[in-house]
Amino acid sequence: MKFKPANNIQDLQYFGEFGGINPSISDSSTYTFLSAKTMFDTFEGNADGCYLYSRHSSPSNLYLGEALAAMEGTETATVTASGMGAITPVLLQLCGSGEHIVSSRTIYGGTYAFLKNFAPRLGIDTSFVDITKLDIVEAAITPKTKVLFCETVSNPLLEVADIKGLAQLAKKHNLKLVVDNTFSPLSISPIKLGADIVAHSLTKFINGSSDTVGGVVCGTQEFIDDLRNVNNGAAMLLGSTMDSLRSASVLKNLRTLHIRMMQHSHNATYLAKKFENDGLKTVYPGLSSHPSHELFKSMMNEKYGYGGMLTIDVGSLDKANALMELMQERNLGYLAVSLGFYKTLFSAPGSSTSSEIPEDEQEAMGLSDGLIRFSIGLDADIERTYQMMNACMVELGILEGEMV
Ligand code: PLP
Repeated sequence: MKFKPANNIQDLQYFGEFGGINPSISDSSTYTFLSAKTMFDTFEGNADGCYLYSRHSSPSNLYLGEALAAMEGTETATVTASGMGAITPVLLQLCGSGEHIVSSRTIYGGTYAFLKNFAPRLGIDTSFVDITKLDIVEAAITPKTKVLFCETVSNPLLEVADIKGLAQLAKKHNLKLVVDNTFSPLSISPIKLGADIVAHSLTKFINGSSDTVGGVVCGTQEFIDDLRNVNNGAAMLLGSTMDSLRSASVLKNLRTLHIRMMQHSHNATYLAKKFENDGLKTVYPGLSSHPSHELFKSMMNEKYGYGGMLTIDVGSLDKANALMELMQERNLGYLAVSLGFYKTLFSAPGSSTSSEIPEDEQEAMGLSDGLIRFSIGLDADIERTYQMMNACMVELGILEGEMV
């Protein structure tokens, strides 16, 4: 049967004590044992179903992890305190001093900063490449390379990675393909396309209510056990554990992810088409003008659409700032970083979420000053939203002509 991520989430049932229809929250940092032997076995990782200490795992974290593993089609998963708290332990688990990573050059600024500024302190070097060109990716691989890293849809340029092609390269050179799927949950299932490990910032679409940070790593049982190993597991030892109260609330939000993604995609498609039609330089994977539109189409789980992220270029940072301030004043969204909220969020990535990337490199990758990144919300009447946004653009001279 075809892999259906939302069905897989729905089919998982966890009941609470006393028959609660939501699982009980494990409100404990430590767990008692009837026998010292079982405690020892648990420490050694040999006692299934037993819990030791909540930095290692907890029932609530397990429920959320299993639901996300079902969504991504992996054997299991571990949830973390943030997206960075998922990505950094994965890379540190897979790479040690003297080893090398090949990464897409258009990735979230925090991940970029980690690879560029922090990992070299530990002897791990990274080559940043144009991930859409498989020959360039392959040319960057050295005998020391251990990991290929990319975002399915990149932050903020919305470049689309050819996961199948990258997976073939990873296999050929015996590397692990690690994919950050934060921008395209449900729409794209990287494991089904050959990726080895998938990470998400749960802070974004998956939780969807902008009330917490969180992350997840989805992978094989063996890899997740390695990450959580009490002696040498990066997730266990660096301590980026999610709190059980939070994982319970993220799990409840995950139940509506499929509906939200469809609406985010619907609204973003509507606006992207209108913006492009108005003559704005618009980037959205759902537009046939997007260089990787066909690639996205060939990888996607169709009903969830092309996602909620789009960019427009209004020519200068001053214009971008003026437009964002005016749209916020008219209650069309918030001038805020992050994404996946019910309300539209917008920011100028060059001076915010990607400011870690030096200016010359921003220019080389096409990250211009006037770029505005939109995370399109769940607006019930997207036509009205468009008309009001268009009016803002006409008023500021970004678009010529009369108000529609
Ligand atoms: N990956 C992507 C694509 C992101 O956009 C972000 C945050 O913006 C992260 C990872 C980091 O996630 P968090 O802020 O939850 O640590």
